[in-house]
Formats: sequence, structure tokens, C-alpha cells
Amino acid sequence: MTRPYLGNPKYTIEVLQKYNFAFQKRFGQNFLIDTHVLEKIIASAEITKDDFVLEIGPGIGTMTQYLAEAAREVAAVEIDNTLIPILKDTLKDWDNVTVINDDILKVDIRKLALEKNKGCPIKVVANLPYYITTPIIMGLFENQVPIDSITIMVQKEVADRMQVGPGTKDYGALSLAVQYYARPEIVANVPPNCFMPRPKVGSAVIRLERYEKPPVQVKDEKLMFRLIRASFNQRRKTLVNGLKNSQELSFDKETIEKAILACGLPLTIRGEALTLEQFAQLANMFSEKQGS
Ligand code: SAM
Repeated sequence: MTRPYLGNPKYTIEVLQKYNFAFQKRFGQNFLIDTHVLEKIIASAEITKDDFVLEIGPGIGTMTQYLAEAAREVAAVEIDNTLIPILKDTLKDWDNVTVINDDILKVDIRKLALEKNKGCPIKVVANLPYYITTPIIMGLFENQVPIDSITIMVQKEVADRMQVGPGTKDYGALSLAVQYYARPEIVANVPPNCFMPRPKVGSAVIRLERYEKPPVQVKDEKLMFRLIRASFNQRRKTLVNGLKNSQELSFDKETIEKAILACGLPLTIRGEALTLEQFAQLANMFSEKQGS
């Protein structure tokens, strides 16, 4: 039986040469060439033979080989059609992998989960193309895809942003969105020499374990996220001014001030100082005012 072999740089180079493959910068192609990192990703994702796994951007199939070994079934979505014949070759020893040649942002993942996993929660594992990290993650969370966990390689700075709370410069709309839907945990820091070609930035593997129920109760989720965006769009301004100046909100100054005070917050506070709980409380306060 063939074991995953592509994590060894020697075989990666062989495959790239055999197919005369040219890396495409615009697709964020940095292939993993470190078996320890690959094993760490698979272990952190806690994949079992019951699992259906979605891989985003399989590249030449390096991580896909490991996923196919560990999971019941894998679907791998790759945008670059020059990689499709390569994947056919490198994955020929595993019969539980489907390669889909498409843009992940255009794939109906909910439908895929329904067809392949009877609508049960799926695991997402990927060494993500960094240029679309945020839209991919937000798409998975917001489009009601049944998700168990997402284990992904991202830019180190982005991983930090997902994990931090108020009082740090990295705290922002992404931190709050991720922490509303999932429990983030950075499981490894990965230096550039683990990839081919080497990226200019450091990377990290982060696991996002989806909550069954969000940790805060919000009557109007969309409103809460509008408040969050408005607060961080002008993060040096006070919360009052951030909300007042927002194009997405239409509350007058008096309503805003009343809501902030009713939450027990000072009018001088900046949005960047609020926790997820406080944003939820503020959103609920505005919902009440809209309803009254
Ligand atoms: N998984 C491989 C590995 O770890 O070696 C490759 C990871 S590489 C960082 C990102 C992969 O995502 C590339 O294969 C790239 O072509 C693919 N990709 C880029 N944009 C994509 C998109 N919109 N939809 C699907 N795949 C995409």
C-alpha cells in the first residue's frame, strides 16, 4: 500500500519537474514540504475514518494524501486547472478522494456537505491561499455550512488576529467574527522554509472548533456585525462617533449615547475596547430600541 510520500521535498521536486509545473503567485501557491508540519496538521484536525473532509487548494496533493489515509472521504477543491492532471497522478492510490476543479468561493459547500455527508458536520483542513483567507473563513461560517472544525494554515499575523481579545493592536472585526462562531487555538507556528517556494511571511496552523451555540446571545446577528464593522472602520474614534459616522447604520447621536450608557459603558470608550459580550449587549440594546 502506498503511504503519503509528497511531504518529502525530493518527491515534490520530482513531481514538479515531471509536469514542468510553473508556480502561480496569483493563486497563493506555497506547497508544504515538511512531514512534521503535515503530521501536526492531521493530528490537530483529529480526523477519523468516520469523517468527510473538505480540503481547500490541494496543490499537488501533498496534504491530500495524508487526509485520504486518515478520513473516510475527502473532497479537494483546486482552482488551478494545470494541477488537475498532477492530482490525478499523485492521488491514484487513494479511491476516497474527489478533486473538484473550481474556485472555492463559488462552490456550494452546504450542498456538498449534504450530498457527501448527509448534512452532518464536516471537517475543513487546508493550507490556505493567503490572499483569500478571510472570505473563505467567513463564507464557511456565514453560509450555514455544517462544520465541526476548521484546521488551517494561515499567515501568522492573521492567526494572531483570530485569537486575541481587546487591548491589542491585532484585535478587530475578524477576531470577533471568528470568536462568535468558534473557539480558536493556534497549534503550531510554521517558518517559511517549510514551503516551496518560501513565503515572505511566517505562518501558523490554527484550529477553529465550531460552537454548537454561539457564546453570546444576540437577537440580531447582522446588526451586531454592522456595529462591529463600524467600530473598527474608525478604530481611533470613540464608539459614539464610529457608530454615528457609519454608512451601514442610521442611529442618531442621542440613541447611540443612550444605548452605550445603558450598557454601563462610558461615552468616551472606543469600539476597540469592547468584548464580544459587550458588542452583543449593545446590539441587543439597539434591537430593543428599534422594537419599541
Ligand atoms: N495544499 C497544498 C500544500 O499544502 O502543499 C497547496 C497549498 S497552497 C498554499 C494554496 C492552494 O490553493 C494552491 O494549490 C492554489 O492553486 C489553490 N487556490 C488558490 N485560490 C483558490 C481558490 N479560489 N479556490 C480553490 N483553490 C485555490
